Amino acid sequence: MLREPRPGWLPTALVTALVTALVTALAASLTGCGAAAGTAGGHHLAEVDHPLQRTIAAGVPGEMPQRASARGVTLADGEVPAGTTVLDDSVPAVARLDPALESALREAAADAARDGLELDVNSGWRSRAYQQELFAQAIRKYGSEAAAARWVARPGTSVHEAGQAVDLGPATTTSWLAEHGASYGLCRTYANEPWHFELRPAAATDGCPARYADAAHDPRTQR
Ligand SMILES: [Zn+2]
Repeated sequence: MLREPRPGWLPTALVTALVTALVTALAASLTGCGAAAGTAGGHHLAEVDHPLQRTIAAGVPGEMPQRASARGVTLADGEVPAGTTVLDDSVPAVARLDPALESALREAAADAARDGLELDVNSGWRSRAYQQELFAQAIRKYGSEAAAARWVARPGTSVHEAGQAVDLGPATTTSWLAEHGASYGLCRTYANEPWHFELRPAAATDGCPARYADAAHDPRTQR
């Protein structure tokens, strides 16, 4: 006939023991977190791109999509199917890259894979017609040629048209590449485009050169 819990010392002691165990466990986990956060904090200090990467991953109004697409553009213009990697030679956007850039990318991709990271190509070589369409889109989006030129180089001036640049993803891998890419000669070019990489062979010994604020500050686009 135990219709109600019987008051007594045992349940109280059990509750006390549970609370004590919980508090101890919580204190231990907090200590663990603190130590981990300290280590991670030091690690992240070197990864100056992280805040920007996070911002872009979250989606910024006015941000260009990382995988460019345009009406009427085909594979032959450099359109890139989803899931394309640096190994996909049947895709002209990859096959028409500068061979030295392509081989540096393959080397980096192999090492990234060992760290469990996939390196996707969102854009590589592209035709002038494709660049023209992307620039036209950017003008519609940003309202002026000057504003558009911060994100998309004017047709005829893009390093993508020369097969000398790639836009890579996902953000976790580009973050890895921003940290390790110099040893392959792979460097970011623009502060506002964490996905855009080019070959800088001297980077293996000298480190990557300073980045331009955006494409509009790149002397190569001032033609
Ligand atoms: Zn690019």
